[in-house]
Amino acid sequence: MDNLLDHTLDTLGHFIVDFGERYFRAEQIFEWLYVRGVYNPADMTNLPLPLREALSNEFSSMPLVPVEVTRSSDDCRKILFAADDVEIETVAMFSDSGRATFCLSTQAGCPIGCTFCATGNMGFKRNLKASEITAQVLITQNETRRPDNIVLMGMGEGLLNFDEVDKFVGIMSEPKGYALSERRITLSTAGLMDELKRFHELHPKVELAISLNAADDATRKKLMPSGKLSSFTQIINAIEQFDCDITLEYVLLRGINDSKKDAEKLAAALCNIHNVKINLIRFNETDGKFTAPDKKSVLEFQRIIRKRNVRCFIRKSLGADISAACGQLAGKRNLSANEK
Ligand code: SF4
Repeated sequence: MDNLLDHTLDTLGHFIVDFGERYFRAEQIFEWLYVRGVYNPADMTNLPLPLREALSNEFSSMPLVPVEVTRSSDDCRKILFAADDVEIETVAMFSDSGRATFCLSTQAGCPIGCTFCATGNMGFKRNLKASEITAQVLITQNETRRPDNIVLMGMGEGLLNFDEVDKFVGIMSEPKGYALSERRITLSTAGLMDELKRFHELHPKVELAISLNAADDATRKKLMPSGKLSSFTQIINAIEQFDCDITLEYVLLRGINDSKKDAEKLAAALCNIHNVKINLIRFNETDGKFTAPDKKSVLEFQRIIRKRNVRCFIRKSLGADISAACGQLAGKRNLSANEK
């Protein structure tokens, strides 16, 4: 069954016109869904009764149910959602200045299989529908508040689910609905550069991030072995072809990619590129296979890069005590159930 949350204003408008009603009814429905938070067509009281009945018959209700909410000591929330056949996770983070960021999943599991990533280790189940990505926002907002920013950095490689992610961005940024500026959405990729260019052409204001995690081709191949991904060199060469800033995410793993030599190599590769900045993320230890560098080495890594005038920041890792941090979304409840 189709879901109302899978429709852009345009496609819903077509449904309404085909039904014999006027287009503005679609705008009213968008207002109910995304401004007033009403999802049941029966409660959309300014719509004619036959239209309400048709919507109830044609469309299914919320595609996700929240089954577990975990709260961290720094007030992050990790929400485990159940769809009919899979479980996924969303994280809501709140900065010291009070800004809310929701980190959403775009796939159940992930087929890329980065060696340091808990999601990658759980395998791939399926792509999420736009309605399932949108529902993460609407339900998480009910548990917390409206987000200031949305980052597509949860479970999955969003660009392998291109059409649904494209539709999701269109739905969220629709001025007559949720009206979240595209500038407040960040898309992160593990390195699908052709798809990233295509996505940027469709949504030029969406912020872009690439998960780099290495200062040379060999180390990147070891950490991110998927043949679908561009290499370190290909990524560095592609950055200047974009007319916007690109953030490079770099998860620091002790003894793997965190040496002074790594910092120097990375700085040398980036020092003449002006539309790039680096976010350093201290690895959050999950299963003992990889460990995190100490805070002093992270600061030293940043100092070496900044010395070459490359913008470099250390990203505060929120939600570590509830396994909500980068690379830790593994649907643990689901995994342990499978293991039994
Ligand atoms: S880091 Fe991202 S792309 Fe790599 S396995 Fe994890 S979720 Fe997938």
